[in-house]
Amino acid sequence: MMNASEYEASLRKLKLNVYMFGKKVENVVDEPIIRPSMNAVALTYELAHDPQYEDLMTVKSHLSGKKINRFTHIHQSTDDLIRKTKMCRLLGSLTGCCFQRCVGMDAMNALSIVTFDIDKKMGTEYNQRFLKYLEFIQENDLTCDGAMTDPKGDRSLPPHKQPDPDMFLHVVKETKDGIIVRGAKAHQTGAVNSHEIIIMPTIAMREDDADWAVSFALPADAPGITYIMGRQSCDTRKYEDGNIDRGNVLYGGHEALVIFDNVFVPWDRIFMYKEYEFAGKLVENFASYHRQSYACKAGVGDVLIGATQTIAEYNGAEKASHVKDKIIEMNHLNETLFCGSIACACEGGKQPSGTYLVNTLLANICKQNVTRFPYEIARLAQDIAGGLMVTLPSEEDFRSPDVGHWLEKYFKGNEKVSTENRMRILRLIENITLGTAAVGYLTESMHGAGSPQAQRIMISRQVNLAQKQKEAKKLCGITDEKVSL
Ligand code: SF4
Ligand code: FE
Repeated sequence: MMNASEYEASLRKLKLNVYMFGKKVENVVDEPIIRPSMNAVALTYELAHDPQYEDLMTVKSHLSGKKINRFTHIHQSTDDLIRKTKMCRLLGSLTGCCFQRCVGMDAMNALSIVTFDIDKKMGTEYNQRFLKYLEFIQENDLTCDGAMTDPKGDRSLPPHKQPDPDMFLHVVKETKDGIIVRGAKAHQTGAVNSHEIIIMPTIAMREDDADWAVSFALPADAPGITYIMGRQSCDTRKYEDGNIDRGNVLYGGHEALVIFDNVFVPWDRIFMYKEYEFAGKLVENFASYHRQSYACKAGVGDVLIGATQTIAEYNGAEKASHVKDKIIEMNHLNETLFCGSIACACEGGKQPSGTYLVNTLLANICKQNVTRFPYEIARLAQDIAGGLMVTLPSEEDFRSPDVGHWLEKYFKGNEKVSTENRMRILRLIENITLGTAAVGYLTESMHGAGSPQAQRIMISRQVNLAQKQKEAKKLCGITDEKVSL
């Protein structure tokens, strides 16, 4: 297993083609806007060496029997799934942001199931290929980016009817050594902090879409791949002197648009090739795993609740009954998020491949709550923090010999607390609810792993409504229904 500095050194060896603000980024690892996101992934390596977190962060590989980082593991029991939930919450609570490494773990687990199912029906050999790839990932302790979301063009049209076929990533040519693909994947979490990128289709497909039904893995710096960094609200504060205005002085997340411009993929890295009828299953399994992973939001919620209680104390408002009640409500909502993730893990089950999959109905319930509760928790945090969170002058003003003393004087709350500390905690709340971390805590809670409607469709498909009706009718004595409605 790598530690944090070995991980950082391994990233420096990659020759990624990254663009930000219209310019090529030559040194990705040290770029001030990207660096905090690298720090967050690095923590997934560092904690694996901390005896305190050994049970959550490490596990025995079912392939090699060696101790590996849980982020490279294929779940072998419900206990593994439960530990995964707890690991996600732990890391969210220690970083206060998206730590990015779950998407690759979720992609690998989904592929371990679906490659097996394809082979069983089609007589292919994807599962063996995949397991060989997995061994390589585990052996080298790599971070994989799980890339699913295509740009999708006109949402009313399937891939083969799009005026521009590249709106969904697809095969353009087949050679004896492999295939050439073209297209893009949008909103890719942790893209430039990953050693590998695993591509999956983004929707269920029909026969006409066979050229778009592909899944494969590539080194992140394979020729033809370009990364264009997404902007985050308040991102350029990371270029400023000092660190108060950043809110989170250590960690952050990032997303990127990843372009595949006629990229070659060798056969031994292809895990689905035109088996369109399995595209939907791969999407569903990946989405269910990632909906479970959103225990990370309960971890970030922990930070936000801690920050909110702190500002209440700094403001001298912590004893007010409505403040206490709002903190209780924040905790109630946050623990409910955690309950969903734990529940879908406990109720998970073994698939034919041997991999344990979460209970998909409960994973969707979990994620549906995630699309709502962080917004309410954030609203309560802003309520308690007060307007100063968004009207606070800059750190440079605070340090200014001309006006700094006025800020020092007029922004003092509880006299035992320094004005600087009060500013810091306000900036952290701003960061999570409005700034760079709000990408992960709010909008990503809404749309990541599928927008709210995607979960509602899954919920409607998976609940047994007829059974519920039968029980209700039995209890009230309806026995003579002649016509089925
Ligand atoms: Fe992991 Fe959460 Fe980030 Fe998704 S949003 S990659 S689950 S930390
Ligand atoms: Fe996500």
